[in-house]
Amino acid sequence: MRTIGLIGGMSWESSAEYYRLINQQVRDRLGPLRSAQLLMHSVDFGPVEQAQHAGRWDDAAAILVDAARRLEVGGAQCVVLCTNTMHKVAEQIQAAISIPFLHIAEPAAQAALDIDAHTVGLLGTAFTMEQAFLKQRLIAKGLTVLVPDDAERQDVHRIIYDELCVGVISDESRKIYQTVIESLTARGAQAIILGCTEIGLLVKPQHSALPLLDTTELHAQSAVAFALDD
Ligand code: GLU
Repeated sequence: MRTIGLIGGMSWESSAEYYRLINQQVRDRLGPLRSAQLLMHSVDFGPVEQAQHAGRWDDAAAILVDAARRLEVGGAQCVVLCTNTMHKVAEQIQAAISIPFLHIAEPAAQAALDIDAHTVGLLGTAFTMEQAFLKQRLIAKGLTVLVPDDAERQDVHRIIYDELCVGVISDESRKIYQTVIESLTARGAQAIILGCTEIGLLVKPQHSALPLLDTTELHAQSAVAFALDD
């Protein structure tokens, strides 16, 4: 089994999900007492989040490059960055290491294509919904990507940082997400990419008429596929 390297902490609420999902999948595949060989370098989210909102992406990149190098030196055979937003600096991380960087957009795009959903709604932080770094990867795979309108994007972003990243799960916020999903559906979305690793903590398949493509689950799956050399 290959050793997975996780860069976590952004937020740790979702990193804990990666840890659980990866181990669960290894157990399902290999047997009841089997578990993943992995290293996690979990950063302090505070300075990363401050750098994001101040547009100091190079400062945030430096923190994550350092984490990735530590994982490589520690014996990790791949790097999995447990956040969509920080894929903004994916190229800088990949350039700093000589092991593969498993990009979060790849399994998400593949999952959409696998169910013939060519038009997808994308939910995530404002950075992810508004900037090109993640969308362009999906578009390159042939997908049409819809994002919520201005007011909806503000709600989606606020709920991620003020609630989901700090462990608050509320029915009221779930209803807001459901309304956003309904409006993306009315605009032609055939599936919804949960492009933020905490959204799956709030919105589950039973809360949506459209298929939900959860990047946490799909990214964890791609890490397991790498570890087991599928
Ligand atoms: N975990 C989130 C994501 O997947 C948001 C937190 C962050 O800004 O890294 O984008």
